Amino acid sequence: MSTVPELFGSMVFDDKVMRARLSAEVYESLRETIRRGKTLDLSVANAVADAMCAWAVENGATHFTHWFQPLTGITAEKHEGFLSPAPDSHVLMKFSGKALIQGEPDASSFPSGGLRATFEARGYTAWDPTSYAFIKEKTLCIPTAFCSYGGEALDKKTPLLRSMEALSFQALRVLRLFGNTEAQRVVPNVGPEQEYFLVDRELYLKRRDLIYTGRTLFGAKPPKGQELEDHYFGAIKPRVKAFMEELDEELWKLGVTAKTEHNEVAPGQHELAPIFSVVNVAADHNQLTMEIMKKVARRHGMVCLLHEKPFAGVNGSGKHNNWSLSTDTGENLLSPGETPYANAQFLLFLVAVLKAVDEYQGLLRLSVASAGNDHRLGANEAPPAVISVFLGDELSAVLRAIETDSPYAGTSIRPLRLGADVLPRFNRDTTDRNRTSPFAFTGNKFEFRMVGSSDSISCANIMLNAAVAEALRQFADRLEGAADFDAALHELIRETIAAHRRIVFNGNGYDEAWIREATEKRGLLNLRTTPDALQMVLAPENVDMLVRHGVFSEREIRSRYEITLENYVRTVRIEALTMVDMARREILPALLRWRGDLAASLNAAKQAAPELPCRVDQKLLSRLGGLIDAIDEAADALADCVAAMDGDVTAEAFYIRDKVLDRMAALRKVCDEAETVTAAGYWPFPTYGELLFGV
Ligand code: ADP
Ligand code: MG
Repeated sequence: MSTVPELFGSMVFDDKVMRARLSAEVYESLRETIRRGKTLDLSVANAVADAMCAWAVENGATHFTHWFQPLTGITAEKHEGFLSPAPDSHVLMKFSGKALIQGEPDASSFPSGGLRATFEARGYTAWDPTSYAFIKEKTLCIPTAFCSYGGEALDKKTPLLRSMEALSFQALRVLRLFGNTEAQRVVPNVGPEQEYFLVDRELYLKRRDLIYTGRTLFGAKPPKGQELEDHYFGAIKPRVKAFMEELDEELWKLGVTAKTEHNEVAPGQHELAPIFSVVNVAADHNQLTMEIMKKVARRHGMVCLLHEKPFAGVNGSGKHNNWSLSTDTGENLLSPGETPYANAQFLLFLVAVLKAVDEYQGLLRLSVASAGNDHRLGANEAPPAVISVFLGDELSAVLRAIETDSPYAGTSIRPLRLGADVLPRFNRDTTDRNRTSPFAFTGNKFEFRMVGSSDSISCANIMLNAAVAEALRQFADRLEGAADFDAALHELIRETIAAHRRIVFNGNGYDEAWIREATEKRGLLNLRTTPDALQMVLAPENVDMLVRHGVFSEREIRSRYEITLENYVRTVRIEALTMVDMARREILPALLRWRGDLAASLNAAKQAAPELPCRVDQKLLSRLGGLIDAIDEAADALADCVAAMDGDVTAEAFYIRDKVLDRMAALRKVCDEAETVTAAGYWPFPTYGELLFGV
């Protein structure tokens, strides 16, 4: 077996390979493109394409693909062979610079929300040279952005790159005011922790709800759930351990820095954390991670569930999006500094995030909205649908001292002066305790915990980057015009704290009392469902902000709104129809069989011993009869409800929220009750207990 350093990145056309295989000139030119986001000229692209192709072929690749993130689904790729005809009926393995920077997948069936007219069904892909190409299953994958011919984004990467540009531009304006003349770029770094479930594949194949929808639509609570929390950091089972080892190796080859793997709270639940990287690379790597997880699980006779809530009553899965900002010179702008001045700069960036999260809470919430995540946000072991920021006691006390012009305990007896006083060192441990906050400051980064486990992290980071860019823009506008920078800075920070204090909450986010306080006293948004959250993207102040920073055009916003809602409607419709089908074709027949056998055995018992009436059987029979009728009725009611769905996508989404979901819950309730009174051998598919403890 190879050592980790040999393995790591062995399938990636990374900096090391580029330096070795490109001429000094081409290499420098490409580095410039990567560093500054400049466009690549064709002669450079041709040279890179040649080297990339040769490297890929040497490493066993036969095909290449422009790999991108469509608006739905994990990733898309269309494979093309390197083979091209040559004289003397030979074939050559090659691939041109043009094919590298621009491809034309026949992508007419990817959702575009009406952005591509049918007569120009093709979009084009453009290489993102900041995310390295890699070989996966004998195919050279080129990470790309995907646009229409009009330049409208049809993917998740394009707006992510735009949001990074906007954020870098505004952050540099602020840094210049602090005398920083060196930094050329500011980038968001992200480390997404990924949660997932593993279930046995044989059991999985017996559950059509899992196959069609990725989650269980039925299932009574097992006698043992996650109460004991004995799974968390517990010993990893051999089968899972073998899976994790292979997963790590596969990811390392692709240059994904999978670092920690451990069990999560729920039985069958696990987590993978990578080492953070620049957000567009982190997003690509997270997509790869999800894909490889699914593939490797299969090889171990398991299925990896990435759904946000595969099991009712058991913890759901999310991603913890650890986000920070750093300069190209390596300074983390969210890390408290050593000197008073560095502290003031840190505090300005910190309050910029507070302002951004408070003013654009709607956008952040909708960036994580999906049918799956609706089951998780506000439910068990998940942040509520209300967004608030955890800062910890120490930092909150500092902000309070600044806001109220009062001394800060432990620093001085004078009111705290920014730029003059040194802040205390924050103890990382005291900032990292709160696990219930949707948006927590953890020492030198923020952790956004609402992202769903199956979702791309792009959307959340697009909104976060854009919102922070907007806060920094306003700060820079104000400070650039200030006569006395120090005084203006102090006042700006003070005002920002006062204006956005309401978003800070250090208590238990799962507490009912908090939700009341948040909504009634603080006026924070509580958007519980996808249709509710999605409306926020159409609010004029949100559209203006996204358009101002060049992150989205109005048309792109509208199209994304429609695609997301359409996806919501389709997802729930499939779930509802699957429930009806399973109830009618699996659950009811099983119950009828069970009742028939029960009745027969009751008769037999009566004949054998007429003097001993069997009360248990009688009781069970009549309860079963009631449940069978109730299931039949509930299935009909749900089927009728879905059939009556009609209108535009917004109307359908709200119809689902108001009608369909209730009917689904009603059908589930009677079916789950029936499960508890059905003899083990009769229930038509594996139970929660079997699924959760079956690996
Ligand atoms: P835990 O949350 O378990 O305490 P860490 O905080 O060490 O673990 O790391 C969690 C994730 O945060 C990892 O993916 C890690 O790479 C990432 N991370 C650490 N520092 C930063 C940073 N400055 N910016 C972005 N992500 C970071
Ligand atoms: Mg964490």
